[in-house]
Amino acid sequence: MQNDQLPPGVQRETMDMDIVIVGGGAAGLACAYHLQSLVKKHNEKVTQGASGAGEALPELTIAVLEKGSEIGAHSLSGAVMNPNALAELIPDYKERGAPIEAEVKKDAVYYLGDDFSFKLPITPPPFHNAGNAIVSLSKLNRWLATQCEEQGINIFPGFAAVEALYEGNRIVGVRTGDKGRDKNGVPKANFEAGLILKAKLVLFAEGTRGSLFRQVAKKLDLWAGKNPEVFEEGVKEIIQMPPGTVEPGVVIHTMGYPLKKSLGGTFVYSIPGDRIILGLVAYLDSKDPLLDPHRELQKLKTHPFFKEKLKGGKVIAYGGKTLPAGGWYSMPKLYGDGWMVCGDSASMVDVQKLKGIHLAIKSGMAAAETALECLRKNDFSAASTQSYEAKVHNSYIKKDLYRVRNFHQTLGMGLLPSLPLIALQEVTGGRGLVDGMKVHLDAKTTETVLDIWGTEGLRHPDNQLPPANGELFHDKLSSVYLTGTMHDENSPNHLLLKDPDICRTQCEPRFKSPCNHFCPAAVYEMKPVNKPDGKFDLQINYTNCIHCKTCDIKCPFENIDWTVPEGGGGPQYRDT
Ligand code: SF4
Ligand code: SF4
Repeated sequence: MQNDQLPPGVQRETMDMDIVIVGGGAAGLACAYHLQSLVKKHNEKVTQGASGAGEALPELTIAVLEKGSEIGAHSLSGAVMNPNALAELIPDYKERGAPIEAEVKKDAVYYLGDDFSFKLPITPPPFHNAGNAIVSLSKLNRWLATQCEEQGINIFPGFAAVEALYEGNRIVGVRTGDKGRDKNGVPKANFEAGLILKAKLVLFAEGTRGSLFRQVAKKLDLWAGKNPEVFEEGVKEIIQMPPGTVEPGVVIHTMGYPLKKSLGGTFVYSIPGDRIILGLVAYLDSKDPLLDPHRELQKLKTHPFFKEKLKGGKVIAYGGKTLPAGGWYSMPKLYGDGWMVCGDSASMVDVQKLKGIHLAIKSGMAAAETALECLRKNDFSAASTQSYEAKVHNSYIKKDLYRVRNFHQTLGMGLLPSLPLIALQEVTGGRGLVDGMKVHLDAKTTETVLDIWGTEGLRHPDNQLPPANGELFHDKLSSVYLTGTMHDENSPNHLLLKDPDICRTQCEPRFKSPCNHFCPAAVYEMKPVNKPDGKFDLQINYTNCIHCKTCDIKCPFENIDWTVPEGGGGPQYRDT
């Protein structure tokens, strides 16, 4: 546990809010904006004497807490966005200058063999993107934040919510993390105690593998009877190409090379300014203990299909994150006394289409509509918040997710065996031969290095990296540099290792320390130590962490607990 004791004489300040939103991403900002607009409309109706309008509501206090140093600093996505939800939220979003990089004009899917490629004769329906928008989620969220601020919503960047406050099982607010502790948890001269934010309603919108909502879900048993959360890990780069070489609005997806021991794929989006977004996603139910998406992304650029396309390119931005892959059957209970959860934190991602931004926005709007009902009734109990679930079920959130409810489980059988079953799901509305298939926890699917790689392990040719040149090819450290990641060196390590002995005595000999490979930011290093058994010790370079959460998900011994670092730390994404 991190130290949360206060120095003598220091008190935590308490603030009373109506609504606290944990997470300043698309879901949280959409909720804040929509709620403020709904309250305004409601009060206008009351003023006009509309029948059934009821009483006017007092001015709302809404706080959006964001752990990044600014809104958008921790936002990362592919991202091709279905614009339907944004158009509902802000119909004139284009006129108001929403940052749409390009509208998709062409799309295609290719299969990559080791040294060949072919285009699928028809683009499968899930990969049709015409009419969708290529966006930078970081820029989009920054723009959404400006729209919220114009509506008088309080946004607190650099404030990480670290604890939910309860009265019985009812959530009554959150506590934000302290700032200015040293690496041992001792307050420094610049110490600032975290705040107590009391709220009638708390919305969890923390994004993928939300660490506060995980604590809440554990305490309130919110995944009971459901599939566990499962994930993909994605990495992406933005590549600056020579002038006049890139046609904006082209979307390409590929399957096959370089992922051999893991399922996943790649994406290429072209945007104005001669830039290419290149990314790779891999399912974290991979058996491969040496799975390394950053390494695979570098190898991808050596394939003949990409070599010509990327000639003269220079990587100018990098990022990594996990994304929920379990969909409908992995969604937790969505509401309770004093709270709701939305977006990625509730597994609302259509993993077949790799799309979640519109579902995040729509679920934030549904939460806002429920919050208005609660405010009008002055009832924030589960009896009142449960209408949020009905709104999710009656919207395209369910339609989109239910249609692919068995997709991840089926794909887990392997690419070729799963294709006919996935085709069957397309025509049966997602049922296929079997409905409600179970998933394995990602942490439990890893096989030992000997099982999967014989005696070759890291020396196997499939695991060899192209040399880093600082232009098109990067090692992990130079990639992390491009994320602008910062954590105070003299602040507590937020990556809590439960049992270091497991790393030395069990994981390294059998699995070759998967965290050393899957971490996209070179945070973990097994180092030889001067111990009589000649084994290794795990060094954790926590200041490199880009908050992707893979280590919290994929360590085979569930030995890492990702906790929220001091607010403001982490990547500083701007264009991703
Ligand atoms: Fe292995 Fe997990 Fe320890 Fe890393 S943290 S060495 S993956 S047990
Ligand atoms: Fe991701 Fe964990 Fe590495 Fe941080 S330490 S970048 S959360 S895998």
